[in-house]
Amino acid sequence: MTAHILLVEDEAKLARMIELELSYEAYQVSVVHDGLAGLTAARDLQPDLIILDWLLPGLSGLEVCRRLRTTGDKVSIILLTAKDDVSDRVLGLDAGADDYVVKPFSIEELLARVRAHLRRTSETGPDILQFADLRLNRRTREVHRGDRLIELTAKEFDLLDYLLVHPQ
Ligand code: CA
Repeated sequence: MTAHILLVEDEAKLARMIELELSYEAYQVSVVHDGLAGLTAARDLQPDLIILDWLLPGLSGLEVCRRLRTTGDKVSIILLTAKDDVSDRVLGLDAGADDYVVKPFSIEELLARVRAHLRRTSETGPDILQFADLRLNRRTREVHRGDRLIELTAKEFDLLDYLLVHPQ
């Protein structure tokens, strides 16, 4: 299955360059140019990985990252930034970013990080588990039966997850 990458970058030229390189590597790429659009796209498109610029108009990349983690979204996030200060790195990782790439970076380095994170994601299994009309989303930790959202405790959710992976 083709991995879907969401790129949130306000510098048009850089965004275009990264988009082309990712497409060339046969990833499916969606691009948005500000923080709020990034947050919305992350929720709507459920990408496998997000490349997120730190300094963005509107909502900062850091804030987007925090909000996604607050809602339990475990998508891999690579923060992109010109800030190369140790305390900034800590701030980024504390906000829930998985990785940190400092501008200017080589596209080869970014692609290598993307590959590494996608490999990790694929090892932890799919985001969506399904059985009959039951649908469990590991990213949002929501369970639907048909169109209906089912309220589960964290423990019940984990048990259901286990049962769907081990049906016997
Ligand atoms: Ca920027």
